[in-house]
Amino acid sequence: MKIGIIGAGFGGMAAAYDLRKAGHEVTVFEAAGFVGGLASGFKEPYWDWSVEKFYHHWFASDKHMLGLIEELGLSDGVIFPRPYTVLLYKGKWYPFDSILKALLFPGLGFGLNKIRFGLVGLYLRLTNNWKPFERVTVEEWMRKWAGKKVYEQMWQPLVIGKFGPHYKDVNMAWMWARLKARTTRLGTFKGGFQAFADRFAEILRGQGVEIRLGAKVESIKRKQAGLSVRSEVGVESFDQVLVTTSPNLMAKLCPELPESYLKGLLELKSMGAVVMVVSLKHQLSEQGYYWFSLPKGEGFPFLALVEHTNFVSPEHFGGDHILYAGDYLVPGHEYFSLSDDELLERFAPAFKRINPKFELDWVKKVWVFKTNYAQPVPLVNHSKNIPSIETPVDGLYFASMSQVYPWDRGTNFAVEIGRRAARLMIEKTV
Ligand SMILES: Cc1cc2nc3c(=O)[nH]c(=O)nc-3n(C[C@H](O)[C@H](O)[C@H](O)COP(=O)(O)OP(=O)(O)OC[C@H]3O[C@@H](n4cnc5c(N)ncnc54)[C@H](O)[C@@H]3O)c2cc1C
Repeated sequence: MKIGIIGAGFGGMAAAYDLRKAGHEVTVFEAAGFVGGLASGFKEPYWDWSVEKFYHHWFASDKHMLGLIEELGLSDGVIFPRPYTVLLYKGKWYPFDSILKALLFPGLGFGLNKIRFGLVGLYLRLTNNWKPFERVTVEEWMRKWAGKKVYEQMWQPLVIGKFGPHYKDVNMAWMWARLKARTTRLGTFKGGFQAFADRFAEILRGQGVEIRLGAKVESIKRKQAGLSVRSEVGVESFDQVLVTTSPNLMAKLCPELPESYLKGLLELKSMGAVVMVVSLKHQLSEQGYYWFSLPKGEGFPFLALVEHTNFVSPEHFGGDHILYAGDYLVPGHEYFSLSDDELLERFAPAFKRINPKFELDWVKKVWVFKTNYAQPVPLVNHSKNIPSIETPVDGLYFASMSQVYPWDRGTNFAVEIGRRAARLMIEKTV
C-alpha cells in the first residue's frame, strides 16, 4: 500500500514507523523545513544542544514515548535530571511538584483544608474511573469536594492559566488525567527534543520512509480509487492518508468530508500559545528553580516561567542561561501581534520579581514562538465530540492532540495516537 502522512511531528513519525514496519510504502509531507512539529527546537551556532521553541519535558510515566525510544535503541539519550517546581505565595516560593510537597504549602493553612487537599489529590491519583468526571466541570467538582479555599488557592489558578476565558467550562476528567499521568521526575533528551526528532527521522529514512520537508499540503481529494494529495511539490496519489495537523486545518485540507464530521472538527475549542525564549548572561533564579507556577492573580504578564538551564546545564549552551516566558492565549490575543521587542518590554519587569538583580543588559537574544493550536479545551461530555481517527472518507485518517482525551496533550500521547492510527490503517489493509 502507498501511504501518505501529513505532518512530521511525533504523531506522524510514530505512525510512519509502524506503517513502514508493516511493509507499506510511506511518504511524510512536512510544511516546515524540519521535523518535530510543536516539540521542535532551535540552536545558536555555538550551542551544543538545541532548545525547544515551546518548553518541553517528559514525565517518568510517559510510557508510549519512552517505549518507542527504547524500540529505536535511543534510550541512552534520555536523562531525568531533578528540577525544582515552585509556587508563589505572599512573595515567597514554595516547592510544588508533588501532592506531598504541596501539602507543606502554607497557603492552605493548617487543618481541614490541608486534609481535603490531600484526600482529594490521593483519590484522583488512585481512581481509574474517569468517565463520571467528564460530566462535571473542574470548577463544580473541586468546589464541592476540595472546598472553596483549596480550589481557589491550588487548582483554579491552573485552569485559569491554561484555559483563560474557557476555564469554567473545562471538565474534571482533564484534571484527573493531569494528576494521574504526571510525575515529579522530569526528563529530556541529550541534545534536546530536536536531537531526538532528527535521530528518529534518520532511522525512518534508513528504513525507507520518504520524509519531504518544505512540502506543505494544500488539499486532499477523493479519487475513484484512493486519495490525491496536492502539495507545494505536486500532486500524488495514495491508498491511505493520515493527517496529523490541527482540526481546523484538517477541515480546510479536506472540505469533501461529510458535514457532520466537518462540524465536529470545527466545534472543537483550543487555546493558542505565545512563548518567548531568552538567552541571558546570568542565572535568573539563583535558587536553581526550574518551573515557576504563577497564579494569574499575582499580576505576572505570563503564565509560565521556566529556567531551562536550571534543568539542564548552561554548559550545553555555551554558558548562556535559557529562560522561557509564555502563556496560553485565545487566538487573536494582542500578544500574537506584538513585536519581539514590544513583548520583551512587557515581560522583562517581571524577571526582576524573580531576581531583583536582573537588568535588561543581561539579555543576549530573544526569540518568540507563536501557535494558534497549543492546548485543546475539553468541555463537558467531551468524549462524545471527539472526531474518530478513521474519517467517513474512505482511506482518510486523522490523529491530533484533540483526540488523545482524556489525557492532556503531549508528545507521549502524540506517539500513542500516531501508533493507534497506524494500527487501524494496517487492519484495513489485511
Ligand atoms: C507551549 C507548549 C508546551 C508543551 N509542553 C510539552 C511538554 O512539556 N511535554 C510534552 O511531551 N509535550 C508538550 N507539548 C505538547 C507537544 O508539543 C504536542 O503534544 C506534540 O508535539 C504534538 O505532536 P503531533 O505530531 O500531534 O502534532 P505537531 O507536533 O503539531 O505536528 C504536526 C505537523 O504537521 C505539520 N503541518 C501542519 N500543516 C501542514 C500542511 N498543510 N502540510 C504539511 N505539514 C503540515 C506541522 O508543521 C507539524 O510539524 C507542549 C506544547 C506546547 C504548545
